[in-house]
Amino acid sequence: MKKLQLYNSLSNSLEDFVPIDSDNIRIYVCGPTVYASPHIGNARPMVIFDVLFRLLKKLYPKVSYARNITDVDDKINSRARDEKMSIKELTDKVIEEFHKNMELIGVLPVTHEPRATFHIAEMLEMIQKLITNGYAYESLGHVLFRVRRMQNYGMLSKRNLDEMIAGSRVEVAPYKEDPLDFVLWKPSEEGIPAWDSPFGKGRPGWHIECSAMSHKYLGEQFDIHAGGQDLMFPHHENELAQNFGAFGRVMANYWIHNGMLLVNGQKMSKSLGNVISLDDALQKYDGEVIRYVLLSTHYRKTLDWTDNLTAQAKQSLNRLYGALKLCSDDSEKQGNEQSLRTLNALCGNLNTPFALRVLHEIADQIYKSSDQKEINKLCSLLKSEADIIGLLSREAHDWFTQNNSLISEDEIKRLIAERKKAKSEKNFELADKIRSDLLSKNIQIEDTANGTDWRNL
Ligand SMILES: [Zn+2]
Repeated sequence: MKKLQLYNSLSNSLEDFVPIDSDNIRIYVCGPTVYASPHIGNARPMVIFDVLFRLLKKLYPKVSYARNITDVDDKINSRARDEKMSIKELTDKVIEEFHKNMELIGVLPVTHEPRATFHIAEMLEMIQKLITNGYAYESLGHVLFRVRRMQNYGMLSKRNLDEMIAGSRVEVAPYKEDPLDFVLWKPSEEGIPAWDSPFGKGRPGWHIECSAMSHKYLGEQFDIHAGGQDLMFPHHENELAQNFGAFGRVMANYWIHNGMLLVNGQKMSKSLGNVISLDDALQKYDGEVIRYVLLSTHYRKTLDWTDNLTAQAKQSLNRLYGALKLCSDDSEKQGNEQSLRTLNALCGNLNTPFALRVLHEIADQIYKSSDQKEINKLCSLLKSEADIIGLLSREAHDWFTQNNSLISEDEIKRLIAERKKAKSEKNFELADKIRSDLLSKNIQIEDTANGTDWRNL
């Protein structure tokens, strides 16, 4: 089998994956801020790194995957105010919906899912350590990270300090020694969540939560830190700086970033009104269709979400489930074959488009074959190969009942029987009418030696 290779943003190159401890692979992914359903762009890393999680679990005996929940944030405060809910009520509700939606798009539960508000003590401890080490200072109720103290600041996003100042990515404030410095702790105004601390009542900055929680669950140094490309700067750069200041080492060996997601060629934005939340998408599409779309483009590339792409994904799944339908033996549906080909595709820097092609090639062989024994074996192989990317986990029958709102399976069977009778009575006009009626409901039928097969288009 191929060796696992991943593109590392830290070195800007494709590298062989060498674990710190092959008995326990450790990975951290930045999770959702729970003020509302994530948009489909945020769902992309959830699915991509779920595939990585599944792959690592195939390759190693134990994988510890931590994905945090940001439940302290100004967006949460203002939404709770608008909805007249307590912050706890709002975040609990959004977290529950998030879990449901993750399940619908086939994302497995992670090993650790720490909530920021449950880890304030760990954050304060780390801030204290940064102050002791000279990497942070207190000022007017704030604690700030002293960016210039870290020589390699910018090593991940490959920015230098002068560029950051020229690009005005920095904010001047009276409590800052230097405009580049970023907040670790800040005072809370009236009505905003606040915790007691040695620096006064307040709340943490966003970056410190990931540093404190990854440290708690995965240690001072772990294998993989991943997330969307938009998080590389400043969020991941600042996480890296904080851990370096506290423990004197780079927190993760491999930094993996997925590309952006566009909608009809445009960036999603409130002002354009083109933001698609995962909730909205799930109203319109089956979760597996969404997952298929998110895996259809290589994770490092920009993915352009269009109606055409979702329609293609649905058709592809119809074709794959249609192939599984031809399996006649329940025991073969389990998928007990070695899934070597998709495994190899994923080992090559998570090449999911290639893995999908593998599935279609197997489906092709199934459609071409007339040997039922061979078909059963191929169906089992198809199941196994699909399992590692989290597709085709349902029974084919369930897929088709859930994905054709135009006609039920019973009705299709009834019409096929009626057509058979019409043909035997030489009523070809009626037989043709039934065929075209079915076609108008996206059902294609095909007469074979063993009877009439049908599939969704
Ligand atoms: Zn993070």
